[in-house]
Amino acid sequence: MARCDVVVLGAGIIGVSVALHLQARGLSAVLMDHAPPGEGTSFGNAGCIEGSALFPVAFPHDPLVLLRHALKQAPESNYHLADLPALAPWLWAYFQKSAPAALVTTARELRPLLARARAEHHLLAEPAGAMDLLAPTGWLKLYRTPALFAATTAERALADDLKVAYTVHDTAGALALEPALRPRFTHAIHWHDCDNCSDPGGLVKAYAALFERRGGLLLSGDARSLRRAGPRWRAETAEGPVDAEEAVVCLGPWSLDLLAPLGIQLPLISKRGYHVHLAPEQGLQLGRAVVDVAGGYALQNTRYGIRLTTGVEFAGRDAAPTPRQVEQDIPMARELLPLGAVRESEPWLGRRPALPDSKPIIGPAPGLAGLHLAVGHGHWGLTLGPVTGLLLAQMMAGDTPFTDPKPFSARRFL
Ligand SMILES: Cc1cc2nc3c(=O)[nH]c(=O)nc-3n(C[C@H](O)[C@H](O)[C@H](O)COP(=O)(O)OP(=O)(O)OC[C@H]3O[C@@H](n4cnc5c(N)ncnc54)[C@H](O)[C@@H]3O)c2cc1C
Repeated sequence: MARCDVVVLGAGIIGVSVALHLQARGLSAVLMDHAPPGEGTSFGNAGCIEGSALFPVAFPHDPLVLLRHALKQAPESNYHLADLPALAPWLWAYFQKSAPAALVTTARELRPLLARARAEHHLLAEPAGAMDLLAPTGWLKLYRTPALFAATTAERALADDLKVAYTVHDTAGALALEPALRPRFTHAIHWHDCDNCSDPGGLVKAYAALFERRGGLLLSGDARSLRRAGPRWRAETAEGPVDAEEAVVCLGPWSLDLLAPLGIQLPLISKRGYHVHLAPEQGLQLGRAVVDVAGGYALQNTRYGIRLTTGVEFAGRDAAPTPRQVEQDIPMARELLPLGAVRESEPWLGRRPALPDSKPIIGPAPGLAGLHLAVGHGHWGLTLGPVTGLLLAQMMAGDTPFTDPKPFSARRFL
């Protein structure tokens, strides 16, 4: 039987980062997963560490835009009709939290975390020897019409207020930054505070290796085995049971598999998204992530090729894949860049663990002494992993948190 201070359940970007920060505070931590680190949602994202992020991806409030989504004419989204009744309460809460004033509140609450996100990554990536996976070149959003660009007025005003750096470009200005682009857009915004990761799964593996080099234990096991053992928490691993004073749930979209039987019902769904890799045609260089706002997809330079990641699909977590957005996005992407063949036979399907107010939960699990949560990072989990680890470890160690953790409390749902 192994004994430790904390068992961290889930070795995605969130769990690995939490484990490293607990270790840095002198706590003995065991990191547990049923798969190797970084092979869940954290494997296949768009690789943007978005310090400049402001408004979360929102539910449309304009009836005409909503109609386009409902009719599946908007490649930004897809949905499974059969799953809508089950998703309806979540979607209603999401709709309310997508009102303009609510988005500003969310952006302001998340700002302390996002502003520190890249620096906290660098503090892990340096000793992990993974800085070469990060390119500090910002990301570029492309607008195919003046109307799409005009819709960014509120976000740019907030950026000015919060001192988030960006540059507006016309077509020529954007082409100077990314010469391979074809001029199918009228405006672009270059958000400066973003690192582009060429291998998000590899980054998590490098952080996990750092945790092990520093004496941490990485064990294989099913997190659903977690249960009370007297005053402690016990989990079953391939190496036998692990007893810990405290446990942290970082199971991303699978967190409810553990939490629901413990009596914790959170409004956590999977905002599904796909990726494929396209072979860059000879000479194609992409210096940073490019987002085509009209399609809601991103293109990122990765070690596997140019990664195209889709917008959101609303469907049950385990429902069969329906990658129609990939089919819609690829022709649009080829309008923008000289892209060759798709490298996979089947698109990768990922599940963004999403709460309706687009903020994660970071902090204690109400009513369950010694259990902590770091779940629901939605579209920004890669970005927020290390800063989440810092905040949670500060709270657990009794240090002064670097920011008020109240906006991230599970109490807002329980
Ligand atoms: C298409 C797409 C694009 C994205 N782009 C970006 C981006 O550019 N920037 C950004 O910041 N974020 C992005 N995200 C979001 C980001 O990828 C997620 O928020 C993040 O990966 C969530 O991390 P996690 O550690 O919570 O979950 P995961 O990475 O899914 O980790 C959960 C872990 O739990 C383990 N697990 C599950 N069940 C069990 C069990 N029973 N027992 C043991 N272990 C278990 C899994 O094996 C897994 O390793 C994107 C997501 C998608 C899908």
